[in-house]
Amino acid sequence: MPEYKLVSKNYEFPDQRLLKAALYRGGYEQWKRVIKEKTSPQAIIDEVKTAKLRGQGGAGFPAGVKWGFVPKDSPKPKYLCVNADEGEPGTFKDRTILEKDPHLLLEGIAIACYAVGIHTAFIYMRGEFYEPQAIVQQAIDDAKKEGLLGKNILGSGFDLDVIIHMGAGAYICGEETALLNSLEGLKGWPRLKPPFPAVIGAFACPTVVNNVETISCVPHIMRMGGEAFQQVGTEKDGGTKLFAVSGFVEKPGVYEMPLGTSLKELIYDVCGGVKDGKQLKGVIPGGSSSPILKPDEIDVPLEFEAMAEAGTMLGSGAVIVLDETVSIPQIFMVMSRFYAHESCGQCTPCREGCTWIYKISEKILAGDGKPEDLDTILSLAPMMNGTTVCPLGAAMAIPVMAMVEKYRDDFLALMKN
Ligand code: SF4
Repeated sequence: MPEYKLVSKNYEFPDQRLLKAALYRGGYEQWKRVIKEKTSPQAIIDEVKTAKLRGQGGAGFPAGVKWGFVPKDSPKPKYLCVNADEGEPGTFKDRTILEKDPHLLLEGIAIACYAVGIHTAFIYMRGEFYEPQAIVQQAIDDAKKEGLLGKNILGSGFDLDVIIHMGAGAYICGEETALLNSLEGLKGWPRLKPPFPAVIGAFACPTVVNNVETISCVPHIMRMGGEAFQQVGTEKDGGTKLFAVSGFVEKPGVYEMPLGTSLKELIYDVCGGVKDGKQLKGVIPGGSSSPILKPDEIDVPLEFEAMAEAGTMLGSGAVIVLDETVSIPQIFMVMSRFYAHESCGQCTPCREGCTWIYKISEKILAGDGKPEDLDTILSLAPMMNGTTVCPLGAAMAIPVMAMVEKYRDDFLALMKN
């Protein structure tokens, strides 16, 4: 199946980040139409529901349903927080939107805010994203000068401020409630849910938190109509998804594919297969928190349900290809170290579990491991799943269990007895 470019359709034009070029290629047309025709906010929410647009940051929650949860009669202000934290190892697709087509994101933000009755939107951006920050800030300033954002947009009486908030480099701040705490100037610790952010979010006000790619799909939904957008993908997962393909593959990069495309097709037909004709060892299909698939498991459709049935996740769409030369125990150690470092420490199962699994992984790599260590990992990891405030504990536990279960011999090969 070839690429199907919606969000990435103007990536090839280096000037697309400039407002003039974006307008020339149809940028803000849907936003102008919404304003001119005074489209009803509910009609936009319904269109997004029909489109079956799901959260593209990893969780996959239906965006239109989330917008519908925001109480319409709340006397408090409402907020949109665009999650541009993108810290999942292997993931680099939101960055391409921020850098290559920031006006698409801003148009999506404007339409989403109009639909939900929001007048302040935050873009919570990963602390290391210096270049994207400058590009998006320029785009905001230019759109404001053109009357597409700011006060009394295009004479409609609708106001919208878009504010970039830079994170400080913590992976956990990509989790929506940690993001909200960080935005408020608090320690980036996840909050217990419920209450959900749609009801009590930023500054205790109703807040929609959506990922960059999710929001960037909105202008395309308005242009195509929800039904046509849905039909590009599958019955439950509408539209396309950006996949960030990296590792031992001939043509790494960001590819936009219809949801439902086979993972095998993406790797072999679109990305040219495993680098230098080597054998495939495994694929981490949705960022580091998704369980690894063995070569005979990759003929699976890239959509939320099918990936769950295959025992893994679509996640953030970060496909990491590993060839025969890769040491799984080494990958295991690097991942464990990452999660042990990034655990916020709030919950004992995550704080202790991540640390102990990392320590065991180092012991195994040093040649001091014993087969019982693998059993310890397999008994420890399930206790980190579902026992914590946020999903980071599970994001560590589930993939490490998959590595030990599927590549046990690779670990045993490093043990002396
Ligand atoms: Fe913090 Fe880990 Fe608990 Fe999440 S699961 S709140 S990262 S300690």
